[in-house]
Amino acid sequence: LGGSISRALAQMSNATVIDEKVLNDCLNEISRALLQADVQFKMVRDMQTNIKRIVNLEALAAGTNKRRIMQQAVFTELCNMLDPGKPSFTPKKGKPSVVMFVGLQGSGKTTTCTKYAYYHQRKGFKPALVCADTFRAGAFDQLKQNATKAKIPFYGSYMESDPVKIAVEGVERFKKENCDLIIVDTSGRHKQEAALFEEMRQVSEATKPDLVIFVMDSSIGQAAFDQAQAFKQSASVGAVIITKMDGHAKGGGALSAVAATKSPVIFIGTGEHIDEFEVFDVKPFVSCLLGMGDWSGFMDKIHEVVPTDQQPELLQKLSEGSFTLRLMYEQFQNILKMGPIGQVFSMLPGFSAELMPKGHEKESQAKIKRYMTMMDSMTDAELDSTNPKLMTESRIIRTARGSGRPVRDVMDMLEEYKRLAKIWGKMKGLKIPKKGEMSAL
Ligand code: GDP
Ligand code: MG
Repeated sequence: LGGSISRALAQMSNATVIDEKVLNDCLNEISRALLQADVQFKMVRDMQTNIKRIVNLEALAAGTNKRRIMQQAVFTELCNMLDPGKPSFTPKKGKPSVVMFVGLQGSGKTTTCTKYAYYHQRKGFKPALVCADTFRAGAFDQLKQNATKAKIPFYGSYMESDPVKIAVEGVERFKKENCDLIIVDTSGRHKQEAALFEEMRQVSEATKPDLVIFVMDSSIGQAAFDQAQAFKQSASVGAVIITKMDGHAKGGGALSAVAATKSPVIFIGTGEHIDEFEVFDVKPFVSCLLGMGDWSGFMDKIHEVVPTDQQPELLQKLSEGSFTLRLMYEQFQNILKMGPIGQVFSMLPGFSAELMPKGHEKESQAKIKRYMTMMDSMTDAELDSTNPKLMTESRIIRTARGSGRPVRDVMDMLEEYKRLAKIWGKMKGLKIPKKGEMSAL
């Protein structure tokens, strides 16, 4: 996706005359890419119309930075589409809330229930889990195992077959035990959809949840809108969680889910483990959708910033999944060498949005230099390590002393490294183009 969008924008940038046709061609190209990322057809069409309304042809024709103007317009438009205009219900500590999870079988409900409970437990809540899935054999065992591992109280039954009864019993029990976040996991099926939606309606009516969360697998594609809408009709969905964002799906279905439920996305699942769960943040998500969707988009950026002779080595290391502090250092050097940090949008993936917010180029540059000073006080072993646990407290303190910076700054720098390592780590397994093939990508 990122590839074809950047290609479309580059083509437009190269056009000497910008007229209606050039703009339309560019928008068509972007639309094709969004459709491939599972954004619904109708939404793509709306986006086209809106962009034509926002982007002024004259400004585009005269502007030196056509690419930037268009990219900004598409970015803003996608952000708007992910904003339903009202926040979702958020549980308050000490006040009992009931949160019900709905979604098809396999979407990740049970896993996400535990992640959601664990997330709030760490924030000081007293969560509890209720297994109202009596449909799938083993459902209760799965929830029990997850809950036990995270030390979260749970309720369920091997005998009872009425999900409504279990849900009500569980909610009542945990209200008595003063739990302030009671989470109801429900069943989902592939077949008998009418029966499933009737069951959701009954569980919801009986437990009166403060919030119903629709859980959606990021890879369901164009089916997202209808699926979300069907659940919305049986229980009043107030928030969305997108799972399996660690896979290959581009997540465009999120836009459909927001449109169908008129509710915001609140979290994303990024792995099977309990803490692979992130608060949803619109801007980085859209950045990813636009710039990181495929290898060629990534390659474009590597070509723009990394000197040709360094490219094969960098790609080799990334394909091995080793984004080390030394690689980060070298990329900082590359960016600083480019002179004043102006073209924020064409920077390396992950380096732009957070490390170099627009309008703060001077501060960003100073921050990068500060990070490099601290890395100068690190040993070769530390710089080349791929094990984040290597940087123990004593090593952090030593680095801080050596560079004359506060410990907090070193920790900041390591956090930044972890964030970038996560983004760049997605390049693991990347097929390295042979010499001469590079520019064809
Ligand atoms: P349910 O049927 O909706 O309750 O779905 P489950 O919670 O049982 O999840 C189905 C499968 O998806 C399990 O193998 C989970 O480990 C897996 N899963 C759930 N969330 C994620 C995620 O964010 N990333 C990955 N990679 N796997 C996930
Ligand atoms: Mg389940």
